[in-house]
Amino acid sequence: MTEHTTDVNSKCTCGICIDGWLSARMSERLESEADFLQYASLQLADDLVADPDILGGGVLSEVFIGADTSLHYIPTALHDKMTPHFYHGYICVIQSILRILLTDPTSNSLPLPTLDAVTSYLANVDEEAKNGGNSNYKAAIQSELIHAYLDQGGKIEYALDAITHLAYEKSPIGSLYSRNNDTQEENAALEKEADDAELPTCENDLNFELVRTKLGLPVSWEGPHWFFLTDLSDSDEEDEGEEVLYEGVKDGEKSEEETSEEKIGPGKGKA
Ligand SMILES: [Zn+2]
Repeated sequence: MTEHTTDVNSKCTCGICIDGWLSARMSERLESEADFLQYASLQLADDLVADPDILGGGVLSEVFIGADTSLHYIPTALHDKMTPHFYHGYICVIQSILRILLTDPTSNSLPLPTLDAVTSYLANVDEEAKNGGNSNYKAAIQSELIHAYLDQGGKIEYALDAITHLAYEKSPIGSLYSRNNDTQEENAALEKEADDAELPTCENDLNFELVRTKLGLPVSWEGPHWFFLTDLSDSDEEDEGEEVLYEGVKDGEKSEEETSEEKIGPGKGKA
């Protein structure tokens, strides 16, 4: 939950925030996080092919979920729906958000991944798929996966929640930032990139409440819904070579298991 003051009003000082609220530097943060999450998830998805035993009863194991931070933003009640197709559909939604953020600003549509914009984007994929033909083969596969996610209770909101919350956590006002050296280095690299690109600074640069409201999310974070002790440990502790204690919390009930799985996820450097 947020600890700083909630303010959902735009205080644009740069004069060029997109639609008056999305600053260039905030957009960079969201884009960087969306890109990282989709990349990390795709890498992990490869493991599903290499080692089908990761699946327990056809759905992703809790150890697997522990390894993919983006999955922590899907409510635990949906665990029994988390098939590989559901997972790939979720990745498609994250990628859609990334593509919208990367929209050419001179085009007709704005690079704003609001709930409405992402919904339209996904509907376009369906349209392309319906048009058939070999050239729409990719759209057909994407459409099928997206529906495997949405039709089983997956929401666009979960992906937006993951991106905005993790971008916040890694920003200088987030709690991960204060605990983790890697995160501070990542942030420094991100800010240097923004400086080199001569992006203007703006009062809105770290206003995540404003962004969430405008995207169509509740002002306060919904996730993460899953908690793993690895989320709380910093890299120094992990380097001691101790077994990582894993704790999945589902529906208010605590369960503990031990695993020697390495944590893969944010904080391990941008790919
Ligand atoms: Zn501005």
